[in-house]
Amino acid sequence: MFCSNCGKQLEDGDKVCGFCGKQAVHTVANENTIRNVSVENTANTNELDEPSTGINVLCFFIPIIGLTLYFAWKNMYPKKAITALKVALIGFLTWTVLSVVLRLSIDFIVYWMISNM
Ligand SMILES: [Zn+2]
Repeated sequence: MFCSNCGKQLEDGDKVCGFCGKQAVHTVANENTIRNVSVENTANTNELDEPSTGINVLCFFIPIIGLTLYFAWKNMYPKKAITALKVALIGFLTWTVLSVVLRLSIDFIVYWMISNM
């Protein structure tokens, strides 16, 4: 049987859920309801688990948001979490490369100016 509160599987003899502490209710009807609810929840989760362009753009420009979202979402929305992490990683690499290129250009310009004074 399953806990009516958190849905975790319980031993048939359990009086109280070992996961959330709620009193266990031993009825077949209850079990079926819980199974249906968890099936519905899975459907809802999958529907919500679609990467959104706005979030991805945000993750690209501010990679730390992508990293945060990955840890916040990885259990509930695995697809969205992985996408956010990937975009954050691409964004992070892009900004790292850009800042190195920018830094080298400034160094080069400064060097060029000094050597031409
Ligand atoms: Zn429980």
